[in-house]
Amino acid sequence: MKRYQALSKDQSNPVDQPSRHSESTAGTTAFVHRSACPACAATTRRTLKSVPMRHPSVAGFLERYYEGRIPLSDLADMPFDVAECDACGTIYQTAILSPPRMLDLYEHWIDPAQSFEKRRGADHTYYAQIANEVMGIRRLTSRLPRDTQVLDFGMGWGNWLQMARGFGYQTTGFELSEQRAAYGREHGLRVASTLCELEPASFHYIYANQVLEHVPDPRASLQDIAALLAPGGIADIHVPNQLGIRRKLASKHWQASHDAIHPLEHINCFNRRALLAMGRAFGLQSITPPYPGLRTPQTLGVKDVAVYLFNRTISTHVFFVRNV
Ligand SMILES: [Zn+2]
Repeated sequence: MKRYQALSKDQSNPVDQPSRHSESTAGTTAFVHRSACPACAATTRRTLKSVPMRHPSVAGFLERYYEGRIPLSDLADMPFDVAECDACGTIYQTAILSPPRMLDLYEHWIDPAQSFEKRRGADHTYYAQIANEVMGIRRLTSRLPRDTQVLDFGMGWGNWLQMARGFGYQTTGFELSEQRAAYGREHGLRVASTLCELEPASFHYIYANQVLEHVPDPRASLQDIAALLAPGGIADIHVPNQLGIRRKLASKHWQASHDAIHPLEHINCFNRRALLAMGRAFGLQSITPPYPGLRTPQTLGVKDVAVYLFNRTISTHVFFVRNV
């Protein structure tokens, strides 16, 4: 599982000051409000859902999903408020966990042992998929693997990075979770825990898979990625798609679930247009994604063509090049 939290960043914009009503029993502020769109910073929006986090439609899911590890009484005053930005259409949770609680979420409430086992027990399909992604690098850069610096931004347990290393790339991981970073280092990976350990403008390929939907300030994270890219370098950004989410939220029978607006975790829910605009703001131009790597002309079917067209028009898996 990939994640990255902008814990060390100035969160004054777009994250507001802590709510006066959000003191937990431990004296730690449980949540903060966001008054602006995390993708474009516009402040006009419409509400798509507003229920207390303690409402059974949300609390029941949190209780089941995290197997009772979340102290829900501490979040009693926290709302599950979902808004849609009028300007760019990004859907986002306006109340998010405060930085210390976000750390609790990713280090403790999500059981590290369970998350590790899930990765360790992955089947062939998973490894074929990441091999395919790594093979896509050569379609976007002409450099030899030994001359290509690759960064996995939010590397998790490092599976993708180990695959990239197997293909001969020069690999570095960025990971804030101490346990995951330590695991990567034990397995010979170079892992940075802070951005200042990474050389600006030094990476030829940055992979950020399932990261930007988790972070309080995705604009700042994408700006960091842009600054780490060498001129002409490629960013591979993949986030859940908001397709179908409005209809789901509007349903009378709505229940929270592990979808693109998963309470507490998927706090930003993008569309392609908003992602591309965010990139442009930091000198990143979108480029055509590589054609699915392992297939041969003999195996091309209607489904492959449909996937290709989806990737070029609707998908929230985007590839950027940093302007030279
Ligand atoms: Zn917006």
